[in-house]
Amino acid sequence: MDDDASTGEVRPELCDLCGMAISDGSELYAFARDSSLIHPYDPKFDGKRCLTACSAEHMAQLAACSTSIPKGSASRT
Ligand SMILES: [Zn+2]
Repeated sequence: MDDDASTGEVRPELCDLCGMAISDGSELYAFARDSSLIHPYDPKFDGKRCLTACSAEHMAQLAACSTSIPKGSASRT
């Protein structure tokens, strides 16, 4: 492995849902629609937000939350 790399300090990814640090490379990524977001480098990613999750379950929850934001309804049934 790369345990000999003195400058290879890798920050663990954090799950966007539970905040758990994922340092074993098992993190999952996905893009969610976010109309308020402008990508700093690549315009084709404008309106998209990168999601990071520790598991498929949490990714599914993040994706569900980010794509089904109720408009102006604060009440839950
Ligand atoms: Zn998580």
